[in-house]
Amino acid sequence: MKERKITLSEDEIPERWYNIVADMPNKPRLPLHPGTKEPISPDMLAPLFPEALIQQEVSTDRWIDIPDEVRDLFSLWRPTPVYRAYEFEKALGTSCRIYYKYEGISPAGSHKPNTAIPQAWYNKQEGIRRVTTETGAGQWGSALSFACRHFGIDCEVYMVKISYLQKPYRKLLMNTWGAKVIASPSTETEAGRSILAQDPNSPGSLGIAISEAVEQAAKRDDTKYALGSVLNHVLMHQTIIGLEAERQMEKAGDVPDIVIAPFGGGSNFAGLAFPFLRHNLTEGKKIRCIAAEPASCPKLTRGVFRYDFGDSVGMTPLIPMYTLGHNFVPDPIHAGGLRYHGAGAVVSQLLHNQLIEAQALPQTECFQAGVIFASSEGILPAPEATHGIGVAIREAREADFAGTPKTILFNLCGHGHFDMAAYQSYFDGQIVDHELSAEEVQTLIDQINMPEVV
Ligand SMILES: *Cc1c(COP(=O)(O)O)cnc(C)c1O
Repeated sequence: MKERKITLSEDEIPERWYNIVADMPNKPRLPLHPGTKEPISPDMLAPLFPEALIQQEVSTDRWIDIPDEVRDLFSLWRPTPVYRAYEFEKALGTSCRIYYKYEGISPAGSHKPNTAIPQAWYNKQEGIRRVTTETGAGQWGSALSFACRHFGIDCEVYMVKISYLQKPYRKLLMNTWGAKVIASPSTETEAGRSILAQDPNSPGSLGIAISEAVEQAAKRDDTKYALGSVLNHVLMHQTIIGLEAERQMEKAGDVPDIVIAPFGGGSNFAGLAFPFLRHNLTEGKKIRCIAAEPASCPKLTRGVFRYDFGDSVGMTPLIPMYTLGHNFVPDPIHAGGLRYHGAGAVVSQLLHNQLIEAQALPQTECFQAGVIFASSEGILPAPEATHGIGVAIREAREADFAGTPKTILFNLCGHGHFDMAAYQSYFDGQIVDHELSAEEVQTLIDQINMPEVV
């Protein structure tokens, strides 16, 4: 039999997270206070996050211990498998060796519980009773609902209104795990009310939902806020993916030349790529790490490196990020988890220093890739995950064309079982590609009235 599935035992679940900041030649700049434009001090984040997570956010330690109770809960589904994609290779007719790490076996169906569980745990340790958050496609909201349920914390999720209407099953999954789900923009917050006053039919956006969740958390002492991507500590929690994958590739007796992952705010990309990138930074290895973003939301390939807000209303600190502007509302593509205007500070700094790469893909190419993958390997990928598959196909074709087959590893960051309506649109020929024109990008950039990152 072919060795398709490379597994690890439960006691091989990593004991520490990897903090890439320790090895970065140029450290990410600190966020700025939105009013004074001075670097913020960690205590300014205290109304929003528990102390332990703030310390992780600013830590320069290379390794951070994973609490035992968190590792124990991870063992519900971790370690996740790495597969050698023999069937997919055959379908492509490639000479490349393709592997994928499959994060879709988690309770919520994506990589998101890898950070939801530690975030809920640290909140619990500090006596927090209630956590607010936002969700776009519903993956993050469901992961946090599950984690909060486990630790007995109330969870309140502001769900982008268009997703709330289009993805009722994601909402019901969150309800099953005990969360209160509110369509955003809502009348429950000042931020929501001000958006609704301007546009009563606003479909919402991640940026708006973040504003609402942050406002609610800032108002009450027993309530904190949780973010599913972008921030340093979230990216670090996800490195459990790459640390496992590293051992699995060793077991397979292979070393990836190219590591690929879809990119929303950067967490699953960081999760898979950073442990490999560490060998580039510390040993001079040359593994290519490629982020895959949608052509309709191309902050990495066509955005600018500026300080910008993480939300729409302008309540968060200014983060040094590749951005298309915090008011940018991407077209409603089906990969809802990738519709975010900016990228986390750490990934942005790495891109700026050309230590990682990025590619933008139109959604028809992604769905096509997703169907080839589902037809060969059998797993139906989330629309977000198809972006990584699309880049893997591009890279395999290029390597074959050049006559130099490569070893490719990508992150299959979630399954698409709640996204069948998106596949229906694709099969009905109703998926359209939204590529921003050069003028549109220029207009967006001209509107960003924010300081450059120096
Ligand atoms: C949230 C999500 C993403 C994008 O977010 P990142 O922070 O960039 O990982 C991608 N895929 C899936 C399945 C998601 O749930």
